[in-house]
Amino acid sequence: MKTGRNDSCPCGSGQKYKKCCEGKPDTASTLRNRGLAALLLIVIAIVVVGVVIDIRNGDDDDNGAAGRVWSPEHGHFHDTGHNH
Ligand SMILES: [Zn+2]
Ligand SMILES: [Zn+2]
Repeated sequence: MKTGRNDSCPCGSGQKYKKCCEGKPDTASTLRNRGLAALLLIVIAIVVVGVVIDIRNGDDDDNGAAGRVWSPEHGHFHDTGHNH
């Protein structure tokens, strides 16, 4: 059922619909947009947390982290530019 422009507004303000919520985004689509925005925030948070964990793992990684080269002769990793 459609709300007439001269009916009292369904939002409960007591004003006529044309003076109140007509032209405002309807509640359903507002809620849907909020849901999408929340979902987007969650996805961004997961990605950011994943990147942070990746960076931390990279810092703590002794096995082939950037800047190190494996030396088969010595059986361990060498820092780049460091030979012994
Ligand atoms: Zn209203
Ligand atoms: Zn060595």
